[in-house]
Amino acid sequence: MNKQYLEDVEEWLRGVANYLDKRQDGTGDLRDELDQLLEWKSGINEEELSATDIEQLQQRIHILHHNVTKLSQKDQESNLNKSVPIGKHTLPPLPYAYNALEPVISAEIMKLHHDKHHQAYVDGLNKAELMMQKARETNDFSLIKHWEREAAFHGSGHYLHTLFWEIMSPKGGGNPNGSLLKQIEHDFGSFEALKKHFSEAAKAVEGVGWALLVWAPRAKKLEILQSERHMNLTQWDTIPLLVLDVWEHAYYLQYKTNRAGYVDNWWRIVNWPEVQYRFDKASQLTWKTQ
Ligand code: MN
Repeated sequence: MNKQYLEDVEEWLRGVANYLDKRQDGTGDLRDELDQLLEWKSGINEEELSATDIEQLQQRIHILHHNVTKLSQKDQESNLNKSVPIGKHTLPPLPYAYNALEPVISAEIMKLHHDKHHQAYVDGLNKAELMMQKARETNDFSLIKHWEREAAFHGSGHYLHTLFWEIMSPKGGGNPNGSLLKQIEHDFGSFEALKKHFSEAAKAVEGVGWALLVWAPRAKKLEILQSERHMNLTQWDTIPLLVLDVWEHAYYLQYKTNRAGYVDNWWRIVNWPEVQYRFDKASQLTWKTQ
C-alpha cells in the first residue's frame, strides 16, 4: 500500500513540477516547498516507511496541494477575465498526449488534426480579424464578404476544435449523470435515445461537418443540430447580440431593391438597452480564453 501511495505521490509531484515550469514566474515559494519535499522524500527509505514518515508526508502534501490549488484558481480567474486581442488567437495545447485516445483515434490523426488543421484555423481566424480591422481603419470594405466568410470558417474551426479536444478524454466514455442526465431524459426520453439521434445526425451530415448537442437558452432545452462544413457564416460558440434581417421579405415592400437604404435607416430604431441586456447576460458566460 505504501508503495502505491508513494508512486501516486511521485506522479502528482511531477505534475506539480510541470505546472510550475510552464508558469515560470511567481512560483518561488511553491517551488521551494516542492524541492524540499522532493529532497526529504529522496532521503527516506521507501521499504521501511514508518507511520510517522507517512504522516509527515501527508501533511506536506496537504499544504502543497492547498497552495497549488489556490495558485491554479488564481490563474483560472485571471484567464477568464482576459480577452484575446485582435489577431492574437493561439493554438491551445491538446489536454492529453497524442496517443491518449488510442485505439479509438490514432496518434497519427491527433497529431495532424491538432498541429496542422487546428493551427490553420487559428492562423486563418487571426488573418481575417486583422483584415477586417484594416477595413475599418481604411474604410475600404470592398473585400468584407470574403473576410467575413474567412472569419466564420476559421473561427468556427478554431472554437469547435478547442471544444472537441476538451469534450474527449482517455478516461471518457460511460454515461452522463446529474443535472445533465436529467435534462437529457427530459428532452430526449433517455440517454440511449440521445445517443441514437446524435449518431444518426452525425452519420447523415452531408459532405463534411459536425454534429452538435446544443443548449437553447430561450427554449431552455437541449437540441441536436448538424453543421454542414462548419459555419455557413456563423461562428459556433458565439452568442448573437444585435441582428439585422436582410431577407427581402424584411424590406422589399417598402424599399424595393434598396437594401442599403433600409440598412442605413435601421440604425434609428435599434433598442440599445435590450442589446445591453443581452450583452450583460452573455458576457457572464466565460470559458477559458483562447
Ligand atoms: Mn477537424
